[in-house]
Amino acid sequence: MIQGSTELVAIVGSPIAQVKSPENFNRWFAEHQPNIAMLAIDLQQDVLDDFIRTLRGWQNLRGCVVTVPYKQLLASRLDLLSERSNALRSINVIRREADGRLVGDIVDGEGFLNAARQQGFNARDTQVMLIGTGGVGSAIAYSLCQAGASHIVISDLSQERVKALEDLLRDAFPKVVIGTYPITLAHFDLVVNASPVGMGATDNGPMPLPGDLMETLSATTLVADVVTSPSITPFLAFAQRMGCPIQTGPEMALAQLGNLGHFMGVTPLEI
Ligand code: NAD
Repeated sequence: MIQGSTELVAIVGSPIAQVKSPENFNRWFAEHQPNIAMLAIDLQQDVLDDFIRTLRGWQNLRGCVVTVPYKQLLASRLDLLSERSNALRSINVIRREADGRLVGDIVDGEGFLNAARQQGFNARDTQVMLIGTGGVGSAIAYSLCQAGASHIVISDLSQERVKALEDLLRDAFPKVVIGTYPITLAHFDLVVNASPVGMGATDNGPMPLPGDLMETLSATTLVADVVTSPSITPFLAFAQRMGCPIQTGPEMALAQLGNLGHFMGVTPLEI
């Protein structure tokens, strides 16, 4: 029950009905912090400046999770960004300080790594292939390099976006080797789909890599997808048939809750 004394966090995006954060957070709050609640906000883009002004003055609001399409648009409107948000020019969470200042971070990559760690994956000295250089793909690439990956290959439909992310990573992580599109996946420790390919797909739906390249997967490679619905995408189903361990989009989303809540000051880091 939301009361006059309840402290709030929010999630903003558009559309918003599909997001799972409110039920995940509110279930956790009900058990552990009954006087905090999360609201979902479907916001029109033409009021973003008013929204930021409102956040600054909203005294019982601790923070706000940010989703598509506002991750980049809101990043440029905050008072302070974490180092990775500053590099990526993107946020997925805002903390409102007691004086109304707004601080942003992007923890998609940390959520991804938490889920991978739960499978025993350690990024140090690994070779990684990443498909998709959007908000989520860039954040995952950044966190993997930060966690010690030694080689990364990046692919996207847009060569311009590939080059921009490669330049960003070279600048931030000069020791990481950036490779070219491979003829085999056999030597990769991790292959990640961070593109929307497979979203809403059925069994024989599209995959982000050609089938003949997928056939070269070795059974020790962790294959991960960020797509949340279906949880087993055609890409993950193929990897499973190749005997690979897999990581799903919902696992990544769930593993990120503690990072989001901790940044807003409403949960511990591990929940
Ligand atoms: P985005 O639109 O910013 O980026 C998507 C990128 O994928 C673009 O660069 C696009 O060119 C590329 N792409 C599209 N089709 C491709 C193909 N066939 N091959 C290679 N590249 C291709 O999107 P985003 O915000 O980064 O989100 C990506 C996906 O992540 C979405 O499906 C979203 O629902 C999902 N997501 C998952 C989580 C989670 O926690 N699991 C969190 C946020 C978003």
